[in-house]
Amino acid sequence: MTDTHCHLDHMAPAEAEAAIAASAHFKAVVTVGTDPVRNRRALAFAEAHAHIFAAVGLHPTEAHLLSPELEADLAHLATHPRVRAIGESGLDYYWTPETRGAQLRALGFQHRLALERGLPLILHVRSRDGLAELELADWLEQHRPPRFVLHAFGGHPRLLEVGLRLGGYFSLAGPLTYRKNEALRRAVQAIPLERLLVETDAPFLPPEPHRGQRSQPAMVRLTLARLAELRGLGLEEMERITDQNARVLFALG
Ligand SMILES: [Zn+2]
Repeated sequence: MTDTHCHLDHMAPAEAEAAIAASAHFKAVVTVGTDPVRNRRALAFAEAHAHIFAAVGLHPTEAHLLSPELEADLAHLATHPRVRAIGESGLDYYWTPETRGAQLRALGFQHRLALERGLPLILHVRSRDGLAELELADWLEQHRPPRFVLHAFGGHPRLLEVGLRLGGYFSLAGPLTYRKNEALRRAVQAIPLERLLVETDAPFLPPEPHRGQRSQPAMVRLTLARLAELRGLGLEEMERITDQNARVLFALG
């Protein structure tokens, strides 16, 4: 079992320790930093636990923090051996449409850093009207990052088409299990098995039947089970496939 995207640093210390203990048998858990302070906390978890790996980046809602100093800090953190991805980066016009320019600059910087370090890029996208999704699809076509994952993929048709064409990975989170998400479940049928990943985005996006609670990496099993059912595979087979995909994308060894 692998949780390819969570935020242990968004949990209280006792909550994080319990979440880590409950996932101790996992192949891997990737905890994702979103700003300079949280990047360091993500790295501390990855240094302390063999099954935890870190991603460092600047979340699009934090793009107003972008500065030459922050870029230098990120470039420094990215050399740490427990860092297996850059991000999460991307475009968020749901919470912070006013920083669009800074978000695009932060995305460009993180793309270049990922290229330089030979690391995959973790992409977040969110908007009310689909504009961020369309712009991210255009950005992908222009910049063609060699290794990227659309985290908590929501099923946007143009992102699906571009992501597939460019060989990207699609990571599915709790919403795959929500009753009113037929469109996402249909989109997932179009993704080749070797491009599928699962995640929790913990402590956010809890899968059914935990909606309304805080999620944790161990809940990834529920999303995995739904994915296996959708694709007509056994749970263990889908687990083997998504573990292998995560190992390849994040060089988990
Ligand atoms: Zn996230």
